[in-house]
Amino acid sequence: MALTELAKDGVADLISLARKVTLKYNGDGVFLRSIISAQTGNCPEDCSFCSQSAHFDTEVEAHPLMAAEKILGAAKQAEKMGAMDFCIVISAKGPTPRIFNKVLEAVDMLVEKTGLKIGCSLGDLTREQAYTLRDHGVWRYNHNLETCRSYFPNICTTHTYDHRRKTAELVKETGMHLCCGGILGMGESVRQRLELAFEIRELDPTWVPINFLNPRPGTPFSEFKMIQPFEAVKTIAIYRLTLPDKILMTAGGREVTLRDLQAMGLMAGANAMILGNYLTTPGRTPQEDLRMLDDLELPIRKDIVN
Ligand code: SF4
Repeated sequence: MALTELAKDGVADLISLARKVTLKYNGDGVFLRSIISAQTGNCPEDCSFCSQSAHFDTEVEAHPLMAAEKILGAAKQAEKMGAMDFCIVISAKGPTPRIFNKVLEAVDMLVEKTGLKIGCSLGDLTREQAYTLRDHGVWRYNHNLETCRSYFPNICTTHTYDHRRKTAELVKETGMHLCCGGILGMGESVRQRLELAFEIRELDPTWVPINFLNPRPGTPFSEFKMIQPFEAVKTIAIYRLTLPDKILMTAGGREVTLRDLQAMGLMAGANAMILGNYLTTPGRTPQEDLRMLDDLELPIRKDIVN
């Protein structure tokens, strides 16, 4: 909490410390990942930040699950851009058996025809589904806590924090990499942001995505103010100190929140990025991000971490 109150002039020291901690526990370099919204919109859940919820009148272009060949095409493109990992994401509380089988078909195709590591983000899983994904070669499963326990009832009423935690724990049990983070700037207090960091630490994931709310028209959070760039950098640094050995990935809302401070985010402890577009919002061009990494002399990592 003291660090969150640090005056502007002290932040450079905080960033410098966060950078040293990143190097000590993770080494140098950045992991690049790519995601595809393979099924978009019409979600029965009511997460207040999400333009894919069927509860809100948003501009999102809903589409059913893409054919496996189309997913493969996007994966090949991501691989060409330098991504090491490709994540298939669907809008759902959890996959129905039919959708699950179609996702498996795509996973098999990607495992066979690309050199990418394959991730999935399909919502809540049954134990059988979780082990089946692992056995088909999925190495990473994304399931964010979204926000801390004490704030969760403010963001969703159709499922609970414990629902999310249960799937996150199941993923760990299977041995797949757990990718588990949250979204900042949803009206939570600064203390609650820290609560989330410590709850994530307890779950011990490998990857921690930090998303910043990019308020979507039509959602209950559409009028929320975005986190200011400098505060976002400070928060990344504090997350790095709290989660020294995790792969910290700046994800949705990165560009609109950090604006000209993109590079500072990487110096403050982020060591993974999503390349290209997010689920429902566009990102910077991959070329711009690749040039930034080049300018910062940050190598692109493809080694496999445990
Ligand atoms: S965050 Fe996920 S579960 Fe919640 S409404 Fe959006 S797609 Fe559905």
